[in-house]
Amino acid sequence: MIPFSRREFLKKIYRVVVAAGAAPLLSFDELLAAESGERPRQRPNLVWLQGASCSGCSISLLNIEQITVLDLLTQFSRLLYHPNLAQATGDQVGELLSALADGDEPYILVLEGGIPAAMPHACMLDHQPLGKWVSRLAAGASACLAAGTCAVSGGVAAMPGTLTGVISLAEHLAKEGIKTPLINLPACPMKPEHLVYTLLHFMRHQNLPETDGRRRPSRFFSYTIHQRCPRYAFFQEQNFARHIWEDGCLLELGCQGPVTYNDCPSTGYNGNSNYCLRAGHPCIGCASELFPRPVIYHLYDDPRVREGLLQGETITFNRKAQGDGE
Ligand code: SF4
Ligand code: SF4
Repeated sequence: MIPFSRREFLKKIYRVVVAAGAAPLLSFDELLAAESGERPRQRPNLVWLQGASCSGCSISLLNIEQITVLDLLTQFSRLLYHPNLAQATGDQVGELLSALADGDEPYILVLEGGIPAAMPHACMLDHQPLGKWVSRLAAGASACLAAGTCAVSGGVAAMPGTLTGVISLAEHLAKEGIKTPLINLPACPMKPEHLVYTLLHFMRHQNLPETDGRRRPSRFFSYTIHQRCPRYAFFQEQNFARHIWEDGCLLELGCQGPVTYNDCPSTGYNGNSNYCLRAGHPCIGCASELFPRPVIYHLYDDPRVREGLLQGETITFNRKAQGDGE
């Protein structure tokens, strides 16, 4: 093991702040000050709830490499409740959440996963359906944050054929007439850098970052994957790969890059060590409200293409790829 100093360790932590584009929101000196016990004055309180989801966005957050989760959750925010991390269970959770909803302490509500509107008993907290807790807490929150595609647009849990009637956080707030500011951080899983940036922005300015028409941070969602794809030259040459891992544009393998907005080409996953296209796999559009498609991807020589079974999907995709999409 190579020994390194605390300062070098902090530099490593600071890299995620830079990667998230949040350096203007938190200087290295402020990080040093926080490390020495001088915590930022305005650390946002966080209440994290989970709905219909796989907990993958929490895992993504816990996997963040350059900054320890403990630093994020203690130095730059105050995590008041998280279902996977909290010790409180059962009645204690109800008491804690009720105290927050009825009290004066400001907090940000984070929701991971969708809300099973047609099957409320699928997600219960202290004998109450999740939707009721979301309404109570969202109404008193300084801001709401939808973490990941399931919270933003339903995702896998809202696929046709499921019985839970999952709706997004935005749909739930609209249904309940709750006007609390909302920010959407789609992707499956959510990128922890997007959450870090949003929290640091809130800490610095006491409000949410600038968003686009879908309430996503403009900083991360202004370009499609296609517009910044390292394989774009292949696309221009009409040089299409026929198998995963080959050189070439992956469009004919079902790539959803032309209709998916995210910043993966500049900030991949796991400390930018990799992401779909760099690994040789088509973008499956995990940050799009179209995710997941009934057929996410296929091989160039998929027999279903020959049989015309994917034709409808292909036509839809091509029309969107030509600019009639999101
Ligand atoms: S279609 Fe996919 S692989 Fe091809 S250039 Fe666009 S994003 Fe890249
Ligand atoms: S490349 Fe596409 S599927 Fe892969 S993580 Fe980015 S948005 Fe999601």
